[in-house]
Amino acid sequence: MPTKRLERLMFVQGGNCFFCKSSLVKADASIEHLFATANGGGNNEENCVVCCKSLNAILGSMSLKEKVQVVLNQKGNFKCPRGVGAAQDAADAAIVKAKLPPIVSSNESASKSARPDNLALVVANLKLRGNARPRTIRTLTTSIATIFPNGIAGDEIAAIIQKLQSTGTVTLNEGKLSYVL
Ligand SMILES: [Zn+2]
Repeated sequence: MPTKRLERLMFVQGGNCFFCKSSLVKADASIEHLFATANGGGNNEENCVVCCKSLNAILGSMSLKEKVQVVLNQKGNFKCPRGVGAAQDAADAAIVKAKLPPIVSSNESASKSARPDNLALVVANLKLRGNARPRTIRTLTTSIATIFPNGIAGDEIAAIIQKLQSTGTVTLNEGKLSYVL
């Protein structure tokens, strides 16, 4: 069972996050499949580590190559995006509270706005990706969706992308995206 595995992996890792080595509490811990299941990775134990939820959300279904790059980009002093503690709890609570359904292209709330905390999470994710950033609006949309395991409305993704463009963080030129982060 997943819970037992989580506990076992936490024990094996000395109670620490696999990546940042900070001490984990169970509420902030999640199982990361190194070779993402979405990409065909197995559910066997040697493919699984426990890490901070925030990082797991960012790694999403990146390829192993991209993940290694994310780790290397931190130049040896790896810190998960938002450490355990009050800020993390607040962010988690906000996500749970919002209870956003998994990607919906709804036509009801076209005026959906980009929540600042979600926007910040996306920007942090893009920063971590280094040169492995999405090159098209379509892949950016998919990438943003994988950052939110609890689901996010399609409208909000669109609002986030719009915001990124209006602030000059993302520029669309002949179908290709470039970034200023
Ligand atoms: Zn961590």
